[in-house]
Amino acid sequence: MATYKNNVLDIEGYGQDMMCFRVFHRVMADSKRKCLEVEGYVHDVSEVLQGKSSNVRYFTALLQEANQNSRVVVFDVQKHNSFQCAARDRSPVKLSFVEHSPSKQHNNTNDLLVKSGTKVSVLRRLEFAREDGLTSRAPVRSLSDIQRDVREYQRVTVKVKVLRMLQDKESVVRGQKLRRKSVVVADSSDLILLSLWGDHVMTIGEWYILTNVSVRVFKGMTSLSTTMQTSLSVVENSGPAKEFVEEDVTSVVGEIVEAEVKVDHFCPKHHLLENINVATHMTRCTKCASFCKTSKSRVEMRGHIGITVDFVQRRIPLDDAEIRELLNLNGRENLDSHALAAKLLVHDDLKVEMWREFITRVLFVKKDDAVDAPKDGSDEAAAAVSNGEKDEFDNLDSLFD
Ligand SMILES: [Zn+2]
Repeated sequence: MATYKNNVLDIEGYGQDMMCFRVFHRVMADSKRKCLEVEGYVHDVSEVLQGKSSNVRYFTALLQEANQNSRVVVFDVQKHNSFQCAARDRSPVKLSFVEHSPSKQHNNTNDLLVKSGTKVSVLRRLEFAREDGLTSRAPVRSLSDIQRDVREYQRVTVKVKVLRMLQDKESVVRGQKLRRKSVVVADSSDLILLSLWGDHVMTIGEWYILTNVSVRVFKGMTSLSTTMQTSLSVVENSGPAKEFVEEDVTSVVGEIVEAEVKVDHFCPKHHLLENINVATHMTRCTKCASFCKTSKSRVEMRGHIGITVDFVQRRIPLDDAEIRELLNLNGRENLDSHALAAKLLVHDDLKVEMWREFITRVLFVKKDDAVDAPKDGSDEAAAAVSNGEKDEFDNLDSLFD
């Protein structure tokens, strides 16, 4: 082990020799895996990513070797800075105790696996020169190309400019609150809707490269959605992009004719709780094989409002956030399906704001707000509303100002 130190600079500090020694023994015992030493230049270091189903954190890079380029998957995220420095400084490196593993992305090629026992050393020089602009990522697809080849759930890499934020809200997925931003992005070929989950932030007017974005189809409209593996990086202004078309933003007002709300409860681990009785102290989750406090269960509402627009029925789906906003719910009210549907049905008309087929906002409007008609004195709906609910009407009215 000590011989490495004579030729190279140890960039990772102390304790590496002992670690190599331990891993050496483990690798010797595991004869299926080939353990080796590689040299080359580091390119294209990704952000630290998180596995979809596991909590494993990793990042990727490309190693330009003498005769080939290899994708490197690094499971020791402590090495992120070392890799970034090597890529930035164009330094040649040696990776000792790496493993070869068949690539999951490309057939007949191997990935290099870097774990905590792998030693990263900076070399003085290599016999070959560093090339520029190498990347391990999938080629960038144009948005029109994706629209032509809609295979749902395929993963793509795109380079897009952010045109407009349509929505930024807390979505509820299996009782779990997740931040979701809906933005319109464009390249030079087309515009598309992108759902940005979690903490990702994008600035309007900036260009980004997004990797591992999933293609979705909803109501015949293709959209993109970030995934747990998505990495997002700002890139230089990449020339002209399609412009936002104001005519794509539309709204309709329809008469409310029917409504349905379903209330699901989930255990703290996001399993659906069937036959829950909210009046009881505890509820059994069959998946967890244990009881949870009913008060700690998570609620998710889903539903729809049926409206008539020009004699045509339209079904407007409502998610948890939309139902809460429409009905001004905030705390842990008694969320009973019947009562919630009744609250939706006391209203006259629903206004639906959209970008193409994507609903950006729903709100109640009164008859005389929707059409220029004299006020009807015998408003049965209003008569059915209790005093408490009247306050809600007043609050909602302020939205129309
Ligand atoms: Zn459970």
